[in-house]
Amino acid sequence: MKKKQTLERCPCGSALFFDACCAPYLDGQAAPSAQALMRSRYTAYVKKDTAYLLLSWHASTRPASLNLAEDSVKWMALEILSLSQGLPGDSAGTVEFVASYKAGGRAQRLTEKSRFVFEDGRWFYVDGDIA
Ligand SMILES: [Zn+2]
Repeated sequence: MKKKQTLERCPCGSALFFDACCAPYLDGQAAPSAQALMRSRYTAYVKKDTAYLLLSWHASTRPASLNLAEDSVKWMALEILSLSQGLPGDSAGTVEFVASYKAGGRAQRLTEKSRFVFEDGRWFYVDGDIA
């Protein structure tokens, strides 16, 4: 059966369609940069794709499990503020971003500088500093 095409804008805010943006990474394709991985992880939070979040988390910091089923946070928007390295050929990189969300009906913002490393042909999220 042919996979259904969805003409849905990607939740990561790229203005691309989901199928042409983060979907391939959630389906297993290696993200080419720290920013692409960061965007796909935001999209995974929107879609509550815990398997992908754990897969893209570095083994040194990855939680044993992640349960978003009961999570009432509604992710609204992602804005990338700055990038440092994290490009093809780099071994590490950082992405600073603001994620807007609603929790308990109130609009909130999370500003974080996340660290990523490139290992075994893939980018991984390591950890982040919340501003
Ligand atoms: Zn995307």
